[in-house]
Amino acid sequence: MKFNTKTIHGGQHNIDPAYGSVMPPIYQTTTYSQTTPGGHKGFEYSRSGNPTRTALENALASIENGEYGLAFGSGLAAIDAVLKLFKPGDEIISTNDLYGGSYRLFTKIFEGLGLKFRFIGMQDASRIEEHINKNTKLIWVETPTNPMMNIIDIEACSKLAKKHKVLLAVDNTFATPYLQQPLDLGADIIMHSATKYLGGHSDVVMGSLVVKDKELADRLYFIQKASGAICGPQDAFLVLRGIKTLHIRMQRHCENGEKVAKFLRSHPKVDKVYWPGFEDHPNHAIAKVQMKDFGGMISFTTAENTLESAVKFVENLKVFTLAESLGGVESLAGHPASMTHASIPKEEREKIGVVDSLIRLSVGIEDDEDLIEDLKQALG
Ligand SMILES: *Cc1c(COP(=O)(O)O)cnc(C)c1O
Repeated sequence: MKFNTKTIHGGQHNIDPAYGSVMPPIYQTTTYSQTTPGGHKGFEYSRSGNPTRTALENALASIENGEYGLAFGSGLAAIDAVLKLFKPGDEIISTNDLYGGSYRLFTKIFEGLGLKFRFIGMQDASRIEEHINKNTKLIWVETPTNPMMNIIDIEACSKLAKKHKVLLAVDNTFATPYLQQPLDLGADIIMHSATKYLGGHSDVVMGSLVVKDKELADRLYFIQKASGAICGPQDAFLVLRGIKTLHIRMQRHCENGEKVAKFLRSHPKVDKVYWPGFEDHPNHAIAKVQMKDFGGMISFTTAENTLESAVKFVENLKVFTLAESLGGVESLAGHPASMTHASIPKEEREKIGVVDSLIRLSVGIEDDEDLIEDLKQALG
């Protein structure tokens, strides 16, 4: 099956033996009757398994070219489950330009529990190896990065990970499997904030993991069940529905993203525009190989380069909504320094380019003329 067919049918066989409903029913139940102790049809209690969640998990595994999918109550709950694979003293190498909430989870929760994190720039993958030692257990990659749109070479990371027998996890939230398939490039774990493009309609918070390896999957299923950060069946249904239009939404996000990026770059009140589709983007060549297109996420700085100019711009938007999050059908604008990345110290964030005048756009699937008109008037 090809990707566009998988988004609609992937992993979905025999979904409703009772009545043949085309969509999996929402199994709003905590428990399942047994004919004799242990005599059940594969489900006992909805923390360990629920048929609607299973339908979603199978779909997730299918669209990521994996074998096993797991759905969690949020993206961070999914990352939390990955980190529980490790024990005090283990080291994790993470990109230094990552989602602020991931950074907070790493440093404020898991560092306190004894895991050690090294945050490094990964745009040049050959610089990762010098940070690997006998305690290293995981390389954590986010690409494109949030919010600087840096591109990390997944295949190069995977070669290093295999050479040193460490796991490679990729946060694939920004790219989605429509644009990028990390398992095919050698990654071991794919993580998503399904809250974003997979759900796609800004109406559900959810996270997911997809892996190929049975033993790794079993360990993660155990953590999912034992720690209990699962999603409910209604939310599983919504994300399953979102996935069915992922390919056409992404196609339009990319088309609109390209138009908006080019418009911004040509505007005198804009300074830098960060978008991997530009030929002079530092890792454009890698983006071109590992991604099918360049996505709808764009960051830029104002020519005035002040906090005031950025704040004024976002306050004046009319079609774009000033809000956290991304990946929904509607266009959103964010101010990372005061919103998504406020949990990263100013000094740390400015080192990676998250300055006070930086604005991040999640370009939606509205008419591109309306989006550009709105940006024009707000910049004016
Ligand atoms: C939103 C986001 C997360 C966290 O996901 P939640 O669903 O909000 O918990 C992790 N990584 C990236 C790249 C994100 O954008």
